[in-house]
Amino acid sequence: MALLQISEPGKGTLPHEHRHAVGIDLGTTNSLIASVISGQATIIQDEDNVKIIPSIVHYKDKELLIGESAKKRQLDDPKNTISSVKRLMGKSLSDVNPKDFVIELEDGNGTIGIKTNVGLKSPVEISAEILRHLRLLAEKRLGHEIKGAVITVPAYFDDAQRQATKDAAKVADINVLRLINEPTAAALAYGLDKKVEGNFVIYDLGGGTFDISILRLDKGLFEVIATHGDSSLGGDDFDQLIEQWIIKDANIPMEDVKIRQRIKEVARKTKESLTTKPKVMIDELEGINKELSKEAFASLSAHLTEKTISCIKLALHDANLTTDQITGVVMVGGSTRMPNIQAAVKNFFGMPLLNNINPDEVVALGAAEQANILAGNTNHDLLLLDVTPLSLGIETMGEIVERIIPRNSTLPVALAQEFTTYQDGQTGMVIHVVQGERDLVKDCRSLGKFTLKGIPPMVAGAAKIRVTFQVDADGLLSVSAKELSTGVESSIEVKPSYGIDDKQIKEMLASSFSSAESDKENRALAEVKVEGKQIITMIQEALNADKALLNKNEIDLIYKSINELTNMLEQEDRNQIEQKITHLNEVTADFAERRMDHSINKALAGKKIDTLEL
Ligand code: ADP
Ligand code: MG
Repeated sequence: MALLQISEPGKGTLPHEHRHAVGIDLGTTNSLIASVISGQATIIQDEDNVKIIPSIVHYKDKELLIGESAKKRQLDDPKNTISSVKRLMGKSLSDVNPKDFVIELEDGNGTIGIKTNVGLKSPVEISAEILRHLRLLAEKRLGHEIKGAVITVPAYFDDAQRQATKDAAKVADINVLRLINEPTAAALAYGLDKKVEGNFVIYDLGGGTFDISILRLDKGLFEVIATHGDSSLGGDDFDQLIEQWIIKDANIPMEDVKIRQRIKEVARKTKESLTTKPKVMIDELEGINKELSKEAFASLSAHLTEKTISCIKLALHDANLTTDQITGVVMVGGSTRMPNIQAAVKNFFGMPLLNNINPDEVVALGAAEQANILAGNTNHDLLLLDVTPLSLGIETMGEIVERIIPRNSTLPVALAQEFTTYQDGQTGMVIHVVQGERDLVKDCRSLGKFTLKGIPPMVAGAAKIRVTFQVDADGLLSVSAKELSTGVESSIEVKPSYGIDDKQIKEMLASSFSSAESDKENRALAEVKVEGKQIITMIQEALNADKALLNKNEIDLIYKSINELTNMLEQEDRNQIEQKITHLNEVTADFAERRMDHSINKALAGKKIDTLEL
């Protein structure tokens, strides 16, 4: 997906008009909330002056703990202490391996249900608890109700995951101004949107995940051109290496949960201390007295560091770029504080890194700036908008795609088009929503189908059905169909880019360019076939009604022509089909005239001339 800047009317606000908006980094390991205070994006601290809130929820009877206090319960009550819930957002049970989780998962009607002491909880509900906690924190600190929030999501999040995030915000009573990609938020915090152009790498190593994104900025357009990473690589893996190093050769009762928890904590603290200290003494655990140096830790974890570099190479390969085409590298995520990571990335790109904003805060800060702009608090007249990566349309007769929203339309966008019925008396219509650049349905991606029922019976082509496509600022599509005379309406929400990554989008585009000529011919053939079928239906209905107006010879001639056209419709010869259509029209021209006279006579019967409106 790409981001486009447009100008937004409306100037800055006076302090009393200030609309309090926040940016939220809803992370797998940690979450943060920030707001622009006195013109400066600032992370909001909790009552203990803590900025970084662990994304952990602990349920126990009436007790609900969130953040650091929940984290403390993780080892003695793991089943009721839920961490890394972001990994389950927008997923169904079949998408995950329940064995990977300490918590108990079950099927919760399509989504995942997590068994706790207080009943089944969904990932959306759990995320909502974290979001609510953050909102209350901000409202307390700012002394105002929050008017809106920008929430960040990973660039690779599909629409189900994005929708789940929006749902969580709704449950938490948060008005979502927009969801933006985490790498884009980081780029905004560094003001990269103010540059003219360039390719930027966003290296994000968090607690349990590693994400590489390559953004291209061109004439105000931010586009995610490649994403890569490892969903099970993060700071936790570095902690584990130190844990194993600590317990090696030591006699530690591993079945003791309390001791295990202590070792875990010591390992993480050791790792974090080594970021600033040359060596750390580990002597607070019974029977253990060891020293770990910065260098020893670097070589202990060298394979993990190397793994991240391999991911960068893959992302560059996908983006078709070399390191010398990279304009800047942004470091994001708490784990990029580690000096060995900094050194490896700097060495790989051969340039200084963008790392002077706290890496665990940068995403929330960028989101806060964006929220402030969207709330209308600035003179800043730039808005970041997404565009649709592929065209969206519906299937019409003959399996032809009618495009409704062209690709690269700026979001949000709403466009409508009128369609009609194909058959006399048709009371239902199937709306098949597709995505892609090709003319035939079979070459596009099917996004969903729904039926409009209750169209009043009319002759074919008389009903007017307005189909409206709406894509909101977060890229979610809703399609509605309305029959205009009765107002009956039906709609669905679909997931336009669900499961499609940028590579697939590129492939779909490439195939549309190379197939443009054959598509045109296919479309023309499909259209002429629809026309042929329609004429046959029409004539058959006319014959059923008014056969009496024809003699046997004439009837035989018409049937012969219908049969010839029917046979030709099975074949792929557009010229031949057109000729047969012309022939059928010729042999029925007289019949049509006679029917017209006949029906006028019928209508006139018994009526005085002055009551006729001619
Ligand atoms: P996420 O985006 O996954 O929610 P964060 O970006 O907050 O997570 O990163 C959390 C990770 O950063 C943890 O593994 C933590 O130990 C690590 N981290 C935080 N501070 C430091 C530090 N000073 N040195 C090394 N690692 C750190
Ligand atoms: Mg993060």
